[in-house]
Amino acid sequence: MEDCIFCKIVKGEIPSKKVYEDDKVLSFEDINPAAPTHILVIPKKHIESLNEITDEDSEIIAHIFKVCKEIAKKLNIQEGGYRIVMNCGKDGGQEVPHIHFHMLGGRNLTWPPG
Ligand code: 5GP
Ligand code: ZN
Repeated sequence: MEDCIFCKIVKGEIPSKKVYEDDKVLSFEDINPAAPTHILVIPKKHIESLNEITDEDSEIIAHIFKVCKEIAKKLNIQEGGYRIVMNCGKDGGQEVPHIHFHMLGGRNLTWPPG
């Protein structure tokens, strides 16, 4: 999608600090980290929000969770624990309309979120 910042990151038009990449998934450091480790994991395919996923996206969503597990290992947050969050829509606090999982770790995270 032309105006989407995450599609631009996928295409390399906006730089990012990549953590993981394969043909379907990209992961990079969040520009404004909310925890010592704050990574975004996105499908390369543009999907606006969770509300738009379809049956054909099931495989990619499942794959993303396996990628998250590998990233947790790679970034040494697997043992300490971490949180995966997807914001959806206005009340959910979604700012970028391209599905992304936040991976947060490296500190004790409070619950519930604000
Ligand atoms: P949302 O609020 O949509 O769930 O999260 C969007 C996230 O994307 C925010 O945590 C924000 O810091 C991050 N972000 C926004 N623009 C950029 C960017 O250009 N590069 C990177 N690496 N992260 C971004
Ligand atoms: Zn996009």
